[in-house]
Amino acid sequence: MDITVLLGAPGAGKGTVAARIAPALNARHVSTGAMLREAVKAGTPAGLSAKAYMDKGELVPDQVLADMIGELLAQAPADARFLLDGFPRNVAQAETLDRLAAAHGATVARALSVDVTPETVLERLGGRRTCPKCGEGYHIKSLPPKVEGICDKCGAALVVRDDDKPETIRHRLAVYEEKTAPLAAWYDKAGKLVHVDGTQDADAVARDALAVFGA
Ligand code: AMP
Repeated sequence: MDITVLLGAPGAGKGTVAARIAPALNARHVSTGAMLREAVKAGTPAGLSAKAYMDKGELVPDQVLADMIGELLAQAPADARFLLDGFPRNVAQAETLDRLAAAHGATVARALSVDVTPETVLERLGGRRTCPKCGEGYHIKSLPPKVEGICDKCGAALVVRDDDKPETIRHRLAVYEEKTAPLAAWYDKAGKLVHVDGTQDADAVARDALAVFGA
């Protein structure tokens, strides 16, 4: 099993880069945010308990995530390759991930930090639009749909996610600084931290990220 953790502020483009490089690496892009949104939509017990945290921009309790990731790794074939986007989000989750990986004879191979400036984050998050039906993501400037406000893939009307509203964005960034940003130092100490410049356009970020894998 080969596990890569993607680090970076909300809006850094972790999801975009993961989606772009996953096919070339034959890897599975796992977004815990997307999994939680699916759970909310499906009305599962995990989803119901997660929604209030997500709408406020707070982290969902660690145990919910530990269960989700534990199940994912347990069902994966031994040669699976994962790009984890949005997990871990704090040091306790990183320790949990190490423990869960070890249970499958694996370790976290690398933490890929997508580095951006605060200005980039605000611009990207403010312009983000999401399809409520199929989950496809857009951006009004950098990745607009073919028809304004309509999903290219399924034709549904695009929305601003509850947690992409301005006041929630500010709170998510504060949570990131307090809880998630320290993970870079944590992985650096373990000799696993690698950086890509996330302020570039998506093609260049994907190219640099693939180079990290020697691909
Ligand atoms: P994201 O799509 O990664 O920005 O995640 C959206 C929301 O889902 C976050 O603001 C959190 O409320 C929740 N979430 C996603 N991943 C995690 C995680 N690893 N730990 C706690 N909450 C999470």
